[in-house]
Formats: sequence, C-alpha cells, structure tokens
Amino acid sequence: MRNSKEYYLEKYSRQIIMEQVGVHGQKKILDSSICIVGCGGLGTSAAQYLSMSGIGKLILIDHDSIILSNLNRQTLFTEKDIGASKCKILSENIKKINKSIIVDYHKKKIDKNNIEVYLENYPIILDCTDNFESRLIINKFCHNKKKILVSAALQNFDIQAFIFSSWSNKKNPCYKCIFPNLTSDENLSCDEMGIMASVAGLGGIIQANLALNHILELKSNFKELILLDSLKLDIKKIKIEKNKNCKICG
Ligand SMILES: [Zn+2]
Repeated sequence: MRNSKEYYLEKYSRQIIMEQVGVHGQKKILDSSICIVGCGGLGTSAAQYLSMSGIGKLILIDHDSIILSNLNRQTLFTEKDIGASKCKILSENIKKINKSIIVDYHKKKIDKNNIEVYLENYPIILDCTDNFESRLIINKFCHNKKKILVSAALQNFDIQAFIFSSWSNKKNPCYKCIFPNLTSDENLSCDEMGIMASVAGLGGIIQANLALNHILELKSNFKELILLDSLKLDIKKIKIEKNKNCKICG
C-alpha cells in the first residue's frame, strides 16, 4: 500500500483536511526539497517536523560529531550515538519517521568556497547553525542565488526567527540588514550560552513552520523578525526594512 495514492491520503489526512492545505498543498509539500545547514538543536527539531509533514527531500549538512552535552536538546540522538556523525545519525532517524523521504547528508563545514557545491540545488535553505561566520556566508549565498532563507537563533530562553527573500522585492531585508555591524569574528555559539531543551525544539519547529507556510503559499512575511520569550511565552513581531546601505542586498 505504501506510496499509493490511498496511503498518502490517509497518512496526511489531518493536513489535507484543512482548506489551506488540501490535496494540492500536500502535493506541494511532497514535491519540495529543503537543505538544513546545522544538525544541532534547531536542525534536528526542524528536520523531524519537516519529515513528518511529508517533505519530499531533505539534505542535512553538519561537520560535527555527537557529544554528551548535545543530548539535552538535539532530538533524535541518544547516548549510543555519541561519537557518530550528527548528519548521518539524523538522516537514519529521519528515514525511520518517513520511509518515503529522500535524505542525503554531507559531513562538511560550510564555507564560502564550498557553499555552492552543497546548497546550489535547493530552493529553501534552513540556517540552523550556531555561529555568525556561517550565518553571514549562508545569507550572502541565499541573496545572490535567489534562495528562500529561514533563519533562527537561540539565546538562553529567547528565540529569534526570520524568513528572508531579500532578492524578490527591493523592500525585503536580508540577515545583514538586521545585523549590519556583525562580523564573522563574533563567535558566540551554544558552547558559551545556556539553552533549554524545549527552547531549542521550539526554535526548530518555528523554522519548519515558516518553511511549510511558504511552500503552501500562505503569505510569508519577509519583513518580520519574530522574537519569542519562552519565559513569558510572549511573541513580538518587529517590522524590519531593507537597509539601503546593506553590503549584501542594498
Ligand atoms: Zn541586506
């Protein structure tokens, strides 16, 4: 029965039943491919929900191996996986969730010399990295190559998230517009910050949600910085305009 029309109609019936999705929308999800850069707290959570939603193809990129202190937040990794490649273990577990999904992985650190090789073929990029150097490289690539970029960052109890399409409209900002003074030397990562298990999960779910809404053409807002304070469960949305002097998109 697997892979038959009846199988998909039943498996995704709770999505298809909604008028915003329908059979047509579910087909768009099944036909979509997404590249996830970073398989830590954000990436594992986003990959899990995207695979459950029926995304057709996921590419997972991370150069790291699993360590004990990852296990408070990186869903789908367990103690027996310590020492193994994050993207490899994640791809194996994603296949267990969704046998129909096509998953590929690259144990690589993205840099400005190799980014084109690994990200070129995917229209939607999820930036789930934990450092500014990678974020700036991915942002520049996504602007130049006309990719949809879904970015998120975690800090203690707070989540920032944004869906960027800086190339499609002269008013849409890019990541660099929001943080014009950021340089790749500012190497703040989870190693230095506290992260609650549930906050990392929420951040990845928000990214998956932004990507799915875009695939379903449910009016993505490309000028809105989402700030979630998980202590107060307070969500703020801040309107961001393109910085006319931006070195990437201005
Ligand atoms: Zn910009």
